[in-house]
Formats: sequence, structure tokens, C-alpha cells
Amino acid sequence: MDHNLRVYNTLTKQKEPFKTVVPGKVSMYVCGPTVYKPSHLGHMVGPVIFDTVKRYLTYLGYDVKFVVNITDVDDKLIVEAPKQGLSVSELAERVTKDYVENLKKLNVTGIDEMPRATHYIPAIIEIIQGLIDKGYAYPAAGDVYFDVTKDDDYGKLCNRDPEQLEAGARIEVSDKKRSPGDFALWKSAKPGEPAWDSPWGKGRPGWHIECSAMSMKLLGKTLDIHGGGLDLQFPHHENELAQSESYNGCTFVNYWMHNGLMRIHSQATKIKDAPSGPLSPVGSGIGGEGQPQKMSKSLGNEIVVSEIFKRHQPETLRFFLLATHYRRPIDYSEERLEEVRRGLDSFYRFFERLERVAKRSFYAFPSPPRDDGGGEFAEFRKRFLEHMDDDFNTGGAVGVLYELLSALNRFADLKQLEAGKATGDDVKAFEQGVVYLKELSGLLGVFSSAPEKPKADHASQKLVVGLMQLLIDLRAEARKAKNFALGDQIRKRLGELGVTLEDRPGGTDWRKD
Ligand SMILES: [Zn+2]
Repeated sequence: MDHNLRVYNTLTKQKEPFKTVVPGKVSMYVCGPTVYKPSHLGHMVGPVIFDTVKRYLTYLGYDVKFVVNITDVDDKLIVEAPKQGLSVSELAERVTKDYVENLKKLNVTGIDEMPRATHYIPAIIEIIQGLIDKGYAYPAAGDVYFDVTKDDDYGKLCNRDPEQLEAGARIEVSDKKRSPGDFALWKSAKPGEPAWDSPWGKGRPGWHIECSAMSMKLLGKTLDIHGGGLDLQFPHHENELAQSESYNGCTFVNYWMHNGLMRIHSQATKIKDAPSGPLSPVGSGIGGEGQPQKMSKSLGNEIVVSEIFKRHQPETLRFFLLATHYRRPIDYSEERLEEVRRGLDSFYRFFERLERVAKRSFYAFPSPPRDDGGGEFAEFRKRFLEHMDDDFNTGGAVGVLYELLSALNRFADLKQLEAGKATGDDVKAFEQGVVYLKELSGLLGVFSSAPEKPKADHASQKLVVGLMQLLIDLRAEARKAKNFALGDQIRKRLGELGVTLEDRPGGTDWRKD
């Protein structure tokens, strides 16, 4: 593969040249949600980021298989389902549907498989039995535990020794364990709980073993990329790693990629039942009064995605999530989303301008794969791709996309493209720049189709258009009669209402911010 991609690996804490197990192919596994409540914004971060990672790897020529699992049996589901008068599987189906619909709106198209944990029970039992046979696990009164003292390099992903790990707040306490750091591979079921037959009695799998089983069955023993939120690094990924490597005797993952978490400022939002003390065992420095806090269901400060879609276009949300480097936390605020929306508007306005110049829609422009057509705007393309090669720095790439937009607008001004005065070569150079914009924005998964216009009632929409034309005509009359003060006043007063007038050779257009 001919590329310069480097990927930050959480395990080695450095950027490494990207090489795959099988030449030309990439296996990528990302931990999905436990489906017990509607998706909140934090759930969308990983899928949007890794969908973009897949887009870029595909662009480089790789054949990528991308798996996101669904945890459809868990204590949280068992507690929540009866509250809603549903069975665990009915609740899981309902919440999964909501999750999938949100991903679709966000243009997350790259997921190849979404395995459900409950469909992999035989594989899970087989791996647990194998771990017992190899001496890494032990049954205890209907449960089965992984023995962390038997795994020499346990803790290597978080760089901690087992004694430190035992101090972690997330370790479940049980008197059936030999040592406190041991974790459950199989849990015995109480009456009425979902349960499957196993050599250790009726029960259900632990959370960590589900991911080891599903990734192994669908992608093989060694994954190229394993992704997930930073909060999953410990204990979830540490435990997946321990199970998989102890069972298979080979490397589980070549590149561990962890995305930063969505944070929300506690002063701006009511936090219900926020626990005191450290919120993250991996020391992301969050929590406390006035400090940004992680967005999560258990903190009760999550923002439900379907609610955001009532106020914002999905494209705004996708662009917002990609505007920050994926390893950094994303600070959510309504103001920030509004800022991103205004930024996107400048692209949409350019697309309108393009229609006037090129007489065709941006969405109808070709997007040839890896197209280096040279020309005036090739330098922007080069810099965009350099950012993507640098550990998928979408934040830097988004910045270059804005620069390309400004350069295209400047070029159109300078060459007076809208006045039809440009030469054929100028138009060609301009359109090559547009092809780059199309190619690069496609890598981020934006601008693939026109966003839905907000639905306004038809009659009032018609009235607004009529009144605006009236004002534009009056202003033109005033200017013709050299009454520039009145002309300027009309422009100024409209500006105060958020309406901008744009004078062009063919007349005056208006837009509302
Ligand atoms: Zn997982």
C-alpha cells in the first residue's frame, strides 16, 4: 500500500506507520452501545469517527470490514425492561432501532456488521471453557471468573499493575473471586432473568467476553484496529485483551484507538445524581463543580440525539463531531453547534453561487477516487490529506476545507465568474477546485446530498419572499434616485433582522442567517 498514514496506538502511546495483518485488508472492531435507553450524543462520537476512519482507509485503497457490536443482555437492561413493561429482548430491539436510525441520519454508512451478543452464546461458552482448560479462569458457584494473576502482562493497555487496578472504582465486588481484580466471564442467573444453559449452570455472559467472542468470530484472532471511547480503556478493553490473548496465544489488536469523550459544562446544564469523586479511572481530568463533565446515561446529563435533530440538521452534528481531533474531548454546547451551523451555511451559500457559475449542482459534481488533477487548488488537497495521514486529524482537515472554500470564493470574485467574464481556463481551474472540495468533503462524510430545508408553512413562506422582493425593489428605486441614505437604511434594518442583501450583476439576492 502506497501511503504515509500513521496511527496513534494507545498500547504503545505513539504514532506508528499503518500496516495491516493481511495486505490490502483492514479489520476494525468498535464497541457499540448497551441498548437500554435511547441514544445520547456521546453514543454518536465513536461511530462518526470510525466511519470517517473507514472512509479514509477505503480511499487509500483498503478493503475494510467494520464491526460495531450491540450489547443486548446486561444488568442495565434487566433493570430497565420491566419498568417499561417490556421483555429484555423487546427493549433491546426498540433501542437498537433508535440507535441505527440515528446513525443513518448522521450518514454513518460504513458499518458492515452489527452483531448482537445474544447471538454468540455458543462461541462465548467455547472461549470461557478454553480459558478454564488453560488455567486462566475458574468456575465459582455458577459464575466463572478470569484470574488476573495468571496473566503476566495484565494491565499493559492502561500501563498499571494489578494492585493499582484493584483500587479502581469499577471493579465489581464479589466474595466468589480469588482476588479483587478478577472479573466475571459468566454470571449465574437469578430466577426470571434471561439465561442460557452452560457447563456452569444457567446464566449469561459477562460484558467483556462478548466483545472477545464477536470480534474473533467476525474478524479473526488479530484485529488491525480496535476502537472505542476512552472510558472503555479500563476495565473493558484491558479485559478483552487479557481474554483474547490468553485464549489465542497471539496479539489481539495491532492498533488500539480511543476517542475522547463528549463533555458538557455542568454550569450550563442540570446534572442529576452526579456522583462525587473521580468520574474516570483513566484520569481524563473531568468532573467537579464548574468543570466539564463526561456525558453519560449514568450521570443523567446526556442529550438525547433525536432531540438535537429537532433543532439541528444531522450534517451540523456530524461536522461538529469531526471538527475536533478524535483523541481530544468534545465540548458540547448549543452555542458551539450554532457556530458550526453558521460555518456550514457558508458552504451551502457557495454551492448556490456555484450553480449560478457552473449551471449545475455541487451534488452533481464528479468525485473521482484519489484524483490529483493539479491546478490552482491542489495545495489544499495536499494539506488536507496530510492531516488525515497524521492519525486521522479531521480537525485539521476541516480547517483546510474552510481555507479551500475561501480560496474558491476569492477566485470567483477576482475572475468575476458570475459576470460571465472569465476565460475557459479560469472556469476549468475553478471547477477542478470544486472537484477537490467534493472529493475531500466526501472523506468526512458531508455534503453528499442537499440538507433538508426547514419546513415552513407555504403561505407564510410565499409572503416572506414577496415582501423581501418589495424591499429589494424599493431599495433599487431609492438608489436610482440617488437617495443612498434610504438605500443604506433598508440594508441596515434588514441586517438587524439577520437578513443579508447580496448585490450581484443580475440583481440582488437575500439570505437569512
Ligand atoms: Zn467491547
